[in-house]
Amino acid sequence: MSGEMDKPLISLHLVDSDSSLAKVPDEAPKVGILGSGDFARSLATRLVGSGFKVVVGSRNPKRTAGLFPSAAQVTFQEEAVSSPEVIFVAVFREHYASLCSLSEQLAGKILVDVSNPTEQEHLQHRESNAEYLASLFPTCTVVKAFNVISAWTLQAGPRDGNRQVPICSDQPEAKRAVSEMALAMGFMPVDMGSLASAREVEAMPLRLLPAWKVPTLLALGLFVCFYAYNFVRDVLQPYMQESQNKFFKLPVSVVNTTLPCVAYVLLSLVYLPGVLAAALQLRRGTKYQRFPDWLDHWLQHRKQIGLLSFFCAALHALYSFCLPLRRAHRYDLVNLAVKQSSLGFVALVLSTLHTLTYGWTRAFEESRYKFYLPPTFTLTLLVPCVVILAKALFLLPCISRRLTRIRRGWERDGAIKFTLPMDHALAEKTSHV
Ligand code: NAP
Repeated sequence: MSGEMDKPLISLHLVDSDSSLAKVPDEAPKVGILGSGDFARSLATRLVGSGFKVVVGSRNPKRTAGLFPSAAQVTFQEEAVSSPEVIFVAVFREHYASLCSLSEQLAGKILVDVSNPTEQEHLQHRESNAEYLASLFPTCTVVKAFNVISAWTLQAGPRDGNRQVPICSDQPEAKRAVSEMALAMGFMPVDMGSLASAREVEAMPLRLLPAWKVPTLLALGLFVCFYAYNFVRDVLQPYMQESQNKFFKLPVSVVNTTLPCVAYVLLSLVYLPGVLAAALQLRRGTKYQRFPDWLDHWLQHRKQIGLLSFFCAALHALYSFCLPLRRAHRYDLVNLAVKQSSLGFVALVLSTLHTLTYGWTRAFEESRYKFYLPPTFTLTLLVPCVVILAKALFLLPCISRRLTRIRRGWERDGAIKFTLPMDHALAEKTSHV
């Protein structure tokens, strides 16, 4: 299949535009790479830039040589694996078996498995890709590493967020060698133990998405509900009761009315779990009890929910450009407040104040109730008002003082009760420790 995907990730221009990548000193350690795809190209560039000599093994070196930095040697697989002690296997699991013809040359060497299974492959195979590679090459030492680093990160260089490289192997020496290489490339090796941990390491990139799964489903669910609600009020009601065809509103106007509602409710859902957690701590009189799982997960997903709220607000801004200024202006203030999600709670309060002042009179006009359904903004006010009222309540000195004490470790039931035997004159004594 031709198209964008066929284009190399690193362009030739990029590769050699940095003259430091063009020449590597002769005494530099030599590293082999099997494969000439996206990952191999980015890895070769990073290794050359970090002072390593690189030799790439390809089934068709003539075709791929031009895509690598000129300092990297691109040759046939057999030749590429003959001299380096460490060889990166940058091919997919299903092609590992095709490398078995190299078994003899690879004997005694370190193979670095960089592969990432898809979710389906991960469920399908009980043994990790690295363990599978080790079973195909019993005379080699397999190290699992670099799978959490994307070709793009390798190309752009390590950033704070993704500097960590989990590494595991049954051979501490091999692990150390690969860890030193990771350090030399600017990454932070993290020892994950033996090769038995490879399955866990391979699951790491798969776990990045689930953090977004529930928040995304929540945002989609809210969008569908508000969209349906706005559809009934703004399109269906005029059509059925006033014979007006307003279906043209569906792609832009209804979506644009829906987006700020979703952004606004999502923003309040960022703060609601904190309010619930505080209420629970007050009720229990301690912070040393686990929150229920659902609340724990909710607290952990606040960042994603906040970002989705920002995304909806930004989309709303984009949509507003598609509408005449008159209409766009209607949502300007809510949008402005919600867009500034970094201001967090201030944005929530501002949006609520705006929505209240904008809609206070309208909320009581009979004509606004289409099919007896209240205007959408009155619905969206529900959760934010609960959050703001609860937060205001927690500011009351008697409550806030208690909450602060709980959060500093005080416990209502922290007193230890000593009960003396009944034959003692004192039936019960309580000691506060
Ligand atoms: P790719 O672009 O498809 O490259 C795979 C390479 O495998 C091909 O260029 C090919 O090179 C080589 N190969 C060797 N034997 C093969 C065979 N029998 N059939 C087909 N190809 C064969 O894939 P990639 O994105 O570089 O990924 C390579 C490995 O890195 C995968 O295991 C992947 O999970 C892992 N990884 C990739 C990324 C990423 O961002 N791309 C990130 C982390 C991990 P020759 O034709 O020159 O032999």
